[in-house]
Amino acid sequence: MKAEVVAIGSELTSGAKLDTNSQWLSLELANLGIPVAYHTTMADSLEAMTEVFRIASGRCDLVLITGGLGPTLDDITRDALAALAGVELVLDDACLAHITDLFSRRNRPMPDRNRVQAMLPEGSRAIENPRGTAPGIWMERDRGPDGVCQLIAMPGVPSEMKRMFSHEVKPHLVGSGQVMRRALVHCFGVGESTAEEMLGKLTSRDHDPEVGITVHEATITLRINASGSSEEECVEKIRQARHEIRECLGTLVFGEGDDSLASVVVDGLVQQNRSLATAEIGTGGVLMSWLSDVDGSQECLAGGHVLTDADGIGRAFGGDGRIESEGNSEATARDLATRCRDHYGADFALSVAECPGYDPDDPEAEAPTTWVACAGPDGVRTKSLTLLGDVSFTRSRSAKTALDLLRGMLTAEN
Ligand code: AMP
Ligand code: MG
Repeated sequence: MKAEVVAIGSELTSGAKLDTNSQWLSLELANLGIPVAYHTTMADSLEAMTEVFRIASGRCDLVLITGGLGPTLDDITRDALAALAGVELVLDDACLAHITDLFSRRNRPMPDRNRVQAMLPEGSRAIENPRGTAPGIWMERDRGPDGVCQLIAMPGVPSEMKRMFSHEVKPHLVGSGQVMRRALVHCFGVGESTAEEMLGKLTSRDHDPEVGITVHEATITLRINASGSSEEECVEKIRQARHEIRECLGTLVFGEGDDSLASVVVDGLVQQNRSLATAEIGTGGVLMSWLSDVDGSQECLAGGHVLTDADGIGRAFGGDGRIESEGNSEATARDLATRCRDHYGADFALSVAECPGYDPDDPEAEAPTTWVACAGPDGVRTKSLTLLGDVSFTRSRSAKTALDLLRGMLTAEN
């Protein structure tokens, strides 16, 4: 069994709005064990829609459509469905009564245009929409030896669509008999291609369960998609894949599911009853911002400083103003972490020495290097990184490298 999700609206294809409906529906279908093979997004054009519906219903058993069911002239999903089936639109009395009633309860006259929302392709049926005027449309298309395709059109407004899917569509969907479960494993510290090499055959297309690799601001995420005939089978496949990933990547793995480097570090500090302070230059404060976003972080965060340049170190932590380490980023990071740890009386302090601007589009520009440091009860550790990419990327990579340094120290202490 295969499904396709079709998102309709020129506001989506123009880039003015993001298609979140397809994402939500695909996650819902995955929970039902129905794999989604295609997402198609299209403008409000009758010709294009009819063509897309024809292709989708030819290659999939289930086609979920959102958008284009409103009363305005650009809402033509119902016309395209009728064109696909080669039938006329006919008035559905119950739908018309619902729409009329909705207007009278709101004490507003019903514009004539809204009548069109009660028009359905002959042979289809309406799907109730208590939250709005547009009913959904459920249509079946016979594909001869390939069986029947279910085409289900729902409103574009996310809240109406979600309610309609959960209450009126999902209970009537015949699942594939398959169960699908997903899990995420996160790692940090190497590039995507190195991680893939270390994983061997795990990420190959024919691996069961499927393991996909994605990277976001240097965090590598392995997405395990298991499908089987029962929940237990999926859980076992995921357990095995997780185990293999950890065998291949070792301590590069920092967490699973919703974990982030910041949440893992906060959890470690709280468990070990340790405190942390931060001092960051040029990051705009992302390090402290991420840490303080974690639930329970107030138990371990002692405080932090966000500086714009190394001249601020003296003003912030006392001493001789600019430190002797001028121009030496490693010494700055080390000195900053040590002074910050003393200043706050914390068990650990993390520092980022600088986060210089850099134009990644300039072929002449050399990518700058920075250093991060972590001062702890047993001394200071430092690490350098090359800052490739734009400013938000370099800021988040510096902060993540600092967090990862502390993660290493916390695990080593255990
Ligand atoms: P429509 O049902 O086409 O009249 O869409 C009504 C409104 O729902 C649009 O103006 C969008 O703001 C929103 N919408 C439509 N399709 C989507 C989608 N795929 N994802 C998120 N929002 C959507
Ligand atoms: Mg629309």
